[in-house]
Amino acid sequence: PKVIHFEDVTFSYPDKDTAVLSNFSMSIEKGERVVITGPSGCGKSTLLYLCNRLYPENCDGIVSGRIELFGKENDSYRPGEVNHRIATVFQDPDAQFCMPTVEEELAFTLENLLVAREEMETKISEVLELTRLTDYRHSIIQSLSGGMKQRVATACAMIMEPEILLLDEPITHLDPYTAKQYIEWLDLLQQKSSITILAIEHRLDLWDNFFHRTIKLKEDRIPYESYTKRKSMVQ
Ligand code: ADP
Ligand code: ADP
Repeated sequence: PKVIHFEDVTFSYPDKDTAVLSNFSMSIEKGERVVITGPSGCGKSTLLYLCNRLYPENCDGIVSGRIELFGKENDSYRPGEVNHRIATVFQDPDAQFCMPTVEEELAFTLENLLVAREEMETKISEVLELTRLTDYRHSIIQSLSGGMKQRVATACAMIMEPEILLLDEPITHLDPYTAKQYIEWLDLLQQKSSITILAIEHRLDLWDNFFHRTIKLKEDRIPYESYTKRKSMVQ
């Protein structure tokens, strides 16, 4: 089944007269790993925010066309109804941590989701096992390396038990070696959880064969007549 479907989506920010996306279409199947790439300013973040339902609600952007999540039109969901089914990992994990230890940070995420106290312990243990972070349960987040912090941030996204994981250039702040390790770790995580991954990334060199499919956005924002899927890499 399709988890994300864009059909002829045109989006422009209110103060801009050119569209960031014009007649953009894409379909993502459950369990796929897809990356959106293209030069800075081409609209990658905008596209990711549209998937995460942060627009148009928070931004007043203008959208035409159709966006479907999990087979239903985006607008047909009540506010907050699907938010927990889509989780995001951002470039800079430091910006999202609120608590001192890994365990507390995970518990904090669950509290925000209004998960009952009795369920928390089980969910925390499960996600730590899934992400192979059990040994880091009591670690002070700020004492961890950049790569480990990014794993913790990803675990915080996974504890929501989402169906889609959105990655916003998650290795930008990692050195190449650490980035490679993070990607290998993510590979195992995706195999274990079969979660759908949609990433944006302007540098693909370190990702090797991680993604099944690449969608390239172009910088010039004239309307595009057609959109073609391409199989860039074979797993
Ligand atoms: P990318 O992630 O590929 O760098 P973005 O989606 O961030 O691209 O930006 C696409 C275009 O939209 C850029 O020209 C950018 O300046 C513009 N843009 C991004 N966010 C906003 C905003 N909140 N208001 C107005 N214009 C924006
Ligand atoms: P090609 O393989 O034909 O050179 P690209 O890989 O560069 O194409 O782009 C893939 C498709 O994505 C293109 O067919 C184009 O129509 C579409 N596309 C790229 N950027 C945008 C955009 N900003 N808005 C809408 N569609 C876009």
